[in-house]
Amino acid sequence: MPEETIFSKIIRREIPADVVFQDDLVTAFKDIKPQAPVHVLVVPNRLIPSLADVTAEDEALLGRMLLVATRIAAEQGIASDGYRLIVNCRSHGGQEVDHLHVHLLGGRPLGRMLPG
Ligand code: AMP
Repeated sequence: MPEETIFSKIIRREIPADVVFQDDLVTAFKDIKPQAPVHVLVVPNRLIPSLADVTAEDEALLGRMLLVATRIAAEQGIASDGYRLIVNCRSHGGQEVDHLHVHLLGGRPLGRMLPG
């Protein structure tokens, strides 16, 4: 079994977080160090360490994660101007928390996808 991260405690509401959405498959909460006016993380309730660990059985879950991100973007009022979704995967992808998550970022122009 992969080791739990702080995200599992947030999902179980054992530690505080600004949870904006939760259903049977996913939880979404505000990033503690926001890098844009809107910065929300959408995570699966079940611990999957990274995108490299998903299987074909996770197809519906992955769809739900993206759909929830689009709904939150609309609710937060950033859909018309646009936004960015980021999934960092493992060390070269810059992933720091080993619980799969989609970053939803928006509320200002985000510039180029990568520096340089
Ligand atoms: P990543 O580098 O893709 O793994 O991103 C991990 C993200 O989790 C970072 O943007 C952190 O600011 C965020 N984060 C870490 N701990 C918490 C927490 N307790 N509540 C909300 N966001 C967190």
